Amino acid sequence: MSKLLSIVIPAHNEEENIPVIYRAILDVGKNLLGYMFEIIIVNDGSTDDTGKVVEKLADEDPRIKYIEFSRNFSKEIALSAGIHHAHGDAVIMLDADMQHPPELIPLFVKKWKNGADVVIGMRNKRNHEGVLKRFGAALFYALMNGISNVPMDPHATDYRLIDRKVADVFEQFTERNRFTRGLVDWLGFKRSYVSFDASARHAGTASYGTKKLMNLAYSVVFTHTLFPLMIAGYMGAFITITSALLGAFVIVEDVVMGDPLGIEVSGTAMLAIMILFLVGIILVCLGFIASYIKTIQDEVIGRPLYVIARTKNISDDDSARVS
Ligand code: UDP
Ligand code: MG
Repeated sequence: MSKLLSIVIPAHNEEENIPVIYRAILDVGKNLLGYMFEIIIVNDGSTDDTGKVVEKLADEDPRIKYIEFSRNFSKEIALSAGIHHAHGDAVIMLDADMQHPPELIPLFVKKWKNGADVVIGMRNKRNHEGVLKRFGAALFYALMNGISNVPMDPHATDYRLIDRKVADVFEQFTERNRFTRGLVDWLGFKRSYVSFDASARHAGTASYGTKKLMNLAYSVVFTHTLFPLMIAGYMGAFITITSALLGAFVIVEDVVMGDPLGIEVSGTAMLAIMILFLVGIILVCLGFIASYIKTIQDEVIGRPLYVIARTKNISDDDSARVS
């Protein structure tokens, strides 16, 4: 029996790109003899005609499975929904804007056939991106690799192939604050790499603006490591030791020895500064703790991960499975 490949595409305002990537995938499909494929397009709250464009294609081609979210949930959630609905022996995820060249799919498949469970697309350069985005990315990866146990490669992208068994485990993840790439890295399994040159997006504008990226980076830091809470601990220890030493010095120099150095420290001034400093530290700690509580709260509430408004070419027991 021939194997099934599921191609998962998250799409947010990609009306112009969908037909292009669809045709590109059809072309690629011709070179993938012996494989059947399905294309799962997740419309993540587009405000343009992405939905109409996909549904029209889905009417003509039953291999296109369409999932429409009731609003914008984020690319990470859209990828999860796609993986949940995929039936393939392998699941390939790629962006709708042609920044992840579909012509590389056969290479991903080849590496998978040769035994890799996870095949990761590695981007060679980020030249088409603005200075700010590149700087932000560099900072984020330096920070994450400094503080987290699971290393993250700055060149690794979301362009990935995962084997059915990885997709099955992935479905068991319940967290709401998710960073698909980080979760797949956390899973381990046998991995292999495909490198490619990222071009500029084919049409439309990137929906991942600075604010969204910063939010994502922030949530990745707080859901993947305990480091910020540890900084608070380190700072607390440092402050306690410093103030204890300072206090001891003042007592010995001023009270015991009668101020031989002539510093004439006003005790009140010293106290005021110390108290201010400590209050600042306590506030910082509270901020960190609040971030964790937010994460815990999100998980505990147990809301569904996403809400599907419409589907096409998706069988009923499927939608029941995730909602
Ligand atoms: N995307 C999505 N939901 C969003 C934002 C983006 O599904 O809220 C999709 C988008 O349609 C594209 C992919 O995620 O297929 C990558 O988005 P984009 O090109 O905006 O980001 P970048 O290339 O900067 O990573
Ligand atoms: Mg893009």
